[in-house]
Amino acid sequence: MPTLYWLQHGGCGGDTMSFLNVESPDLPDLLDDLGIRVLWHPSLTDTAPGERQALEDRILADETPLDILVVEGSVVQGPDGTGLFDTHRGRPKRDFAAALARRARYVVAAGTCAAFGGFGVDDVMDATGLQFRREAPGGLLGEGFRSRAGWPVVNLAGCPCHPEVVSGTLTALVNGTPLELDSYQRPREWYGMMVHQGCSRNEYHEYRVEEEEFGHKGCLFFHKGCHGPLVGGPCNVLLWNRRSSKTRAGVPCFGCTSPAFPQPFPFFQTRNIEGVPVDLPMGIDRAHYMAYKTMAAAAAPARLTHRRTKV
Ligand code: SF4
Ligand code: SF4
Repeated sequence: MPTLYWLQHGGCGGDTMSFLNVESPDLPDLLDDLGIRVLWHPSLTDTAPGERQALEDRILADETPLDILVVEGSVVQGPDGTGLFDTHRGRPKRDFAAALARRARYVVAAGTCAAFGGFGVDDVMDATGLQFRREAPGGLLGEGFRSRAGWPVVNLAGCPCHPEVVSGTLTALVNGTPLELDSYQRPREWYGMMVHQGCSRNEYHEYRVEEEEFGHKGCLFFHKGCHGPLVGGPCNVLLWNRRSSKTRAGVPCFGCTSPAFPQPFPFFQTRNIEGVPVDLPMGIDRAHYMAYKTMAAAAAPARLTHRRTKV
């Protein structure tokens, strides 16, 4: 029976909240189907503190096997590199995380904070991710880290990570299904598609029909800060709660699956130079993009340009 330990670091607990809402199957059925024994999870186990310590000692002594370690939240290294802002049993929690990671068959970072540091990288928390600090390889465990099964940390980016990405990853690990990872160690299955894919506003993007006022139909890329064509993620394909997504609800994608998240500039604005976004859709050439968008805007059909329908 595969075992799982879920460790929370500096964060909001959002990845736990997201995972608790997994559907088809729901969480109890998922754990039953996969035969996972949850050794510890802050919301799923009722282990007394003394029993938890004994359990941790047995894992660290290699007496209780640890198959999957899931880490949520950024690893806190402050103040001044001591790690004492976030402790476990009187010692920096980062040391406990590193010791558990060395005993686990697989290590999974749930959410952008655990994967890349997220919030707190640039402030007094001096946060980092498990194997990256923003885009730079390294993090807590170092670039060369491999779990006992020979895997790097599997990064399930997102703020929070989509629950079906967590359940799909656990299913793959337990069943021994290969997971192809991208250069930031995110499974290509879910991060190989753009958030833009499947957005209900794609036709508006195509003809550069722009949202100028929230609450109308139109693309949010040109003025409202949407990162949909800039970052990978399954939000408009899996959908959230099986029915919606930020962009479908009229909110720009903030690019939370990117190692650079959160950005240091405002979320609801698109940075632009003379009306052309600074950050263009991934892989596109600026000169061709400008020519294409000018022509596309000129060719936009009236049924789109005259849209006034509220979303
Ligand atoms: S709102 Fe964002 S995700 Fe949707 S079509 Fe526009 S750029 Fe793409
Ligand atoms: S739409 Fe963008 S910001 Fe929202 S959850 Fe998806 S990737 Fe993150």
